[in-house]
Amino acid sequence: MIKAENIYKSFGKLEVLKGISTGIKESEVVAVIGPSGSGKSTFLRCLNMLETPSSGSVWIDGQELTNPKTDIVKVRQHVGMVFQHFHLFPHLSVLENLTYAPMTVLGKTKSEAEQAGYDLLAKVGLKEKAKDYPNRLSGGQKQRVAIARALAMNPKVMLFDEPTSALDPEMVKEVLEVMKSLTQTGMTMAIVTHEMGFAREVADRVLFLDDGQLVEDSPPSEFFANPETKRAQDFLEKML
Ligand code: ADP
Ligand code: MG
Repeated sequence: MIKAENIYKSFGKLEVLKGISTGIKESEVVAVIGPSGSGKSTFLRCLNMLETPSSGSVWIDGQELTNPKTDIVKVRQHVGMVFQHFHLFPHLSVLENLTYAPMTVLGKTKSEAEQAGYDLLAKVGLKEKAKDYPNRLSGGQKQRVAIARALAMNPKVMLFDEPTSALDPEMVKEVLEVMKSLTQTGMTMAIVTHEMGFAREVADRVLFLDDGQLVEDSPPSEFFANPETKRAQDFLEKML
């Protein structure tokens, strides 16, 4: 579903990604972990071309995003992204946050989009908040709306960049629960996270990034019990 081949990315003289190659199969859930500044966000953003790789190739569902002939806007419609800081539209109600893109981009009718929106809000436990504005919601609720909004585009892939890092501790669980239920639907997911327990429980594979390199790529049972590299061992010692 996702393939990254030899991705390099520099910002000016700073080389942030140093040749990352990996793939994510359909329905696979991959946790991306590593120290702050190791390039996790940049890597995720390269997967949907929010950042253009300096070199290397990215494919999503057979389409090469790094090919200049590809209509990136179109491919990106199938890639949902959830950020640390929600990025909801503040001037739209919760329901309107969910219906806006399906109506304007996918051409759904208002009633179709609202029906789908209510269904998604029910799935994330927020149906009763449909008419509220984002500033009335807790952080955990905002993030659940952000996930529902991404799902409203019927994505093939969901990318999460530290979705719980900006939340108060008591709200982390409700968001992780929503993500966990999403894994059970067969969604293909890449999740940058510092929630080691969650990664261990839901991920099929752990990608460990350090200093712009993919240092380990292994099942969580192996990664957490027996990290191969000193770099991963040191990281886990600090985290656990
Ligand atoms: P992580 O998500 O693992 O913390 P990032 O991918 O955000 O790491 O950042 C990796 C490095 O790239 C950091 O040194 C960061 O300062 C730098 N960086 C990220 N985005 C930009 C940008 N748009 N311009 C310049 N430097 C950036
Ligand atoms: Mg980051």
